[in-house]
Amino acid sequence: PGPVAPPAIRTTCPYCGVGCGVLARPDGLGGLAVEGDPDHPANCGRLCSKGSALGETVGLEGRLLHPMVEGRRASWDDALGRVAGDLSRIVAEHGPDAVAFYLSGQLLTEDYYVANKLMKGFVGSGNVDTNSRLCMSSSVAGHRRAFGADIVPGCYADLDEADLIVLVGSNAAWCHPILFRRMLDNRARRGAKIVVVDPRRSASADEADLFLPVAAGQDTALFCGLLVHLAESGALDADFLGGRTEGFGEALARAREIAPDPASVARATGIAEADLAAFYDLFRTREKVVTCYSQGVNQSAQGTDKVGAIVNCHLATGRIGRPGMGPLSLTGQPNAMGGREVGGLANMLAAHMNYLPAEIDRVGRFWDAPRMARREGLKAVALFDAIDRGEVRALWVMATNPAVSLPDADRVRASLAKLDLLVVSENVASNDTTSRGAHVLLPAAAWGEKDGTVTNSERRISRQRAVLPLPGEAKPDWWIVSAVAARMGFASAFPYRKAADIFREHAALTAFENGGERVLDLGGLADLGDRGYDDLAPVQWPVGADGEGTARLFAERPFQTPDGRARFVAPALPRLATETSEAYPFVLNTGRIRDQWHTMTRSGRSPRLGSHRPAPFVELHPADAARLGLGDGDLARVSTAMGSCVLETRLAEGQPPGTLFSPIHWSGETSSDGRIGALVHDHVDPFSGQPEMKASPAAITPE
Ligand code: SF4
Repeated sequence: PGPVAPPAIRTTCPYCGVGCGVLARPDGLGGLAVEGDPDHPANCGRLCSKGSALGETVGLEGRLLHPMVEGRRASWDDALGRVAGDLSRIVAEHGPDAVAFYLSGQLLTEDYYVANKLMKGFVGSGNVDTNSRLCMSSSVAGHRRAFGADIVPGCYADLDEADLIVLVGSNAAWCHPILFRRMLDNRARRGAKIVVVDPRRSASADEADLFLPVAAGQDTALFCGLLVHLAESGALDADFLGGRTEGFGEALARAREIAPDPASVARATGIAEADLAAFYDLFRTREKVVTCYSQGVNQSAQGTDKVGAIVNCHLATGRIGRPGMGPLSLTGQPNAMGGREVGGLANMLAAHMNYLPAEIDRVGRFWDAPRMARREGLKAVALFDAIDRGEVRALWVMATNPAVSLPDADRVRASLAKLDLLVVSENVASNDTTSRGAHVLLPAAAWGEKDGTVTNSERRISRQRAVLPLPGEAKPDWWIVSAVAARMGFASAFPYRKAADIFREHAALTAFENGGERVLDLGGLADLGDRGYDDLAPVQWPVGADGEGTARLFAERPFQTPDGRARFVAPALPRLATETSEAYPFVLNTGRIRDQWHTMTRSGRSPRLGSHRPAPFVELHPADAARLGLGDGDLARVSTAMGSCVLETRLAEGQPPGTLFSPIHWSGETSSDGRIGALVHDHVDPFSGQPEMKASPAAITPE
């Protein structure tokens, strides 16, 4: 008999917010054999192209394996001492708001929890923000306005049971592929209809029963028109409206102002009246409707209002929290939800608590915190503005690359160079952020090497488990932050020896003086033993004392507002933050491609994934290309008021005339490296602070 293969270890995919279960087995050569976990409810054994290539991405080439201080290899003791010493000094000299952490939806909940605790409870600043600000913060703000808390009411099983699935600003076929397959399965099995609302004909639109090519920024007009239609066709749920909601009258009045009749909606959105009528008819007549939305809604200077306009239609018809019904925010990142649960956003505290005196006090007592932050910190774009002005002097970046991913990325790069202290916890030895004069680099454990939990788009907590040994001197992020906290004098509050210790504390905080007040309650997991944590099966919060999760919320349970009633929203008149002009006549949209993830730190290691779209590009309509003298595969310079870069053209009939699309993944030092973040305007949503990354006025010329 040959050698016995090691057992497969259950873990979770590190890419998108679907949160697929993965079975990973070391191949004995430093790599992994990977397959979908048939027992994970999110994917039932399936993996998309990215997930199935994970085994090709775990090599150590280019890894950061040792701490570095001022460009030289250092011991952990020296590196941690430098970070703790400089942070303490800067806080003493300039106050707690002179320091900040910038985190990532790639971090595990335990990492997020410890960083949040150190900054908000012990340093005394709210300056913890995250790249989730660029991803989901408009959904967070939309949930909080409508439901009183950041809560996704439904679950993935609703996609199996819906009669109508509406995708708004979501190319799920590429960005949440396993969920998209569930939608297609439902259509094949039960005849569900799929409607896609998107300015461009995406891969998802190609599969849709009805494609609505909405003009950029006009989603609100589309859904206000739907609300008016529902009201005028007698499709409202009067009992639900009267018993469970507030504000319908104002919302309907505003909807009538924005979308008085189908003709005006057609003019605003650019959608044919017959297609609008077909959509409105489907929404009215199909009982079970799920509306999924993603970055096309969120990454907007009116993203929170767009979420509100969608949620309004579900509240008006009482279609929320029941099987096959509800708004469903598709989270971009693997743990954007988990980060939010522990206060990873600058405007929230841990356990979904807010900056209210009683809740600040509650968190402070639970942590026995000497210096609780008493006001919201800076949201991502504002944070980097404050760095630029010299008000924030120390920044610790964990697991993200803001020099590429933030809007107006050239200015972000310049700002980073002004810091007195730039600390970067990273997997890779060098990237666009580390090379902006980072004073300290800390080698962080990567996916496959660390233990913890993530929460996917349906509130499901799943374990990530270590499959490979920690390479070099790499350490888990929670360990690194705890070690710095200890050197800042807070050792007794950061005594963690393993991820399970942190998870138990997080779960206990959610239940602390809760009394049913907050839905986010993991009290049933607060007493998990180490074995229980190791064996934790995927579970959707809230988790009761019996350890059972909750698939859906709000069908009967009160909303989280003070009076338990959901709030309709009267959205602002829809418009883009900046309009096109003679100099910049195109609207530049940005997004993901099927086989890459963010800045390609991991997915870029797989030759298989790289072959799908090997180089950065810009898509434009053939008529625009002909007018400009551009052919397919030519080089063109794309410019905005922020910056410019040279990209290969791809002619696409599905790209509306007057618009451009370019992917977000590439980075580098020259204008031909495809770093599209340098071109994106930094206008933000007034509620969420999320930037408008999908509609920058742009010009394109042959290079
Ligand atoms: Fe699943 Fe998303 Fe990973 Fe694909 S990238 S396997 S859909 S979690």
